[in-house]
This record gives sequence, structure tokens and C-alpha cells, in this order.
Amino acid sequence: MLGIYIDAIQWVEMPNTRGMSQFADGGLLATKPYVSSDSYINKMSNYCRECPYDVKKRIGDEACPFNSLYWNFLSEKREYLKQIPRMNMMFSLLDKIPPKELAEIKSRAKTIIKSSKK
Ligand code: SF4
Repeated sequence: MLGIYIDAIQWVEMPNTRGMSQFADGGLLATKPYVSSDSYINKMSNYCRECPYDVKKRIGDEACPFNSLYWNFLSEKREYLKQIPRMNMMFSLLDKIPPKELAEIKSRAKTIIKSSKK
């Protein structure tokens, strides 16, 4: 990809990639944070095909970690992100998760985050 856009690496690719991946510019370049659950990763790649984690599960030891991390992220950052119209659909999906399941998702996300800091 970078080879194709060789004449635009510095002024397009670098700021765009950083803006999309970090949302550090607060939405100047990207209109929403570039985060996703496993369903998007699965749709856009073939990584999940042979992965031992279950793409569809949000909780449990076999559940893909990206699912719990994604929903936990949305839940934790809701106050900040709710002002972005493109996030509305994601928040309506978040609201459909039963409270007990959301609590389990958050618990699993905390465990994953904690273990990644070791
Ligand atoms: S960890 Fe999740 S997103 Fe990554 S390959 Fe496995 S199932 Fe797919």
C-alpha cells in the first residue's frame, strides 16, 4: 500500500494512519475512532479462520479478546464519543447487550488489559 502512494507517504499516509489508529487528533482526520470488534477483523481479513478464539463469542475463555475489548472501550468512552454522530449505531448496539453480559464483558476486558501490562 505504501508503495502505491509513494508520493503521499508524508502528507497523507502518515497523518491519516496516525489519525485513524490513535484518534489522537480528536477526529480531525477520521470522523470516528478506528476501533472494531472481531466481526470487522474477520470480515476484512483471514486471520480469524485458524484462530483458536471464537469470533462470535463476547464472553468466556474462548471468546475473541477483541470483542470484549471493543465493547468495553465503547462503554468506558461513551461520554466522550457520544457527540460523534457516526458512533450512534455502535451505541445502540451496545445498549442491546444485557447488563449482566456487559458486566462480564467488562470483567473479561479488565483481565485482558491487566495481563497485557505484565
Ligand atoms: S484474536 Fe480474534 S480477531 Fe484476532 S484472529 Fe483470533 S478471532 Fe480473529
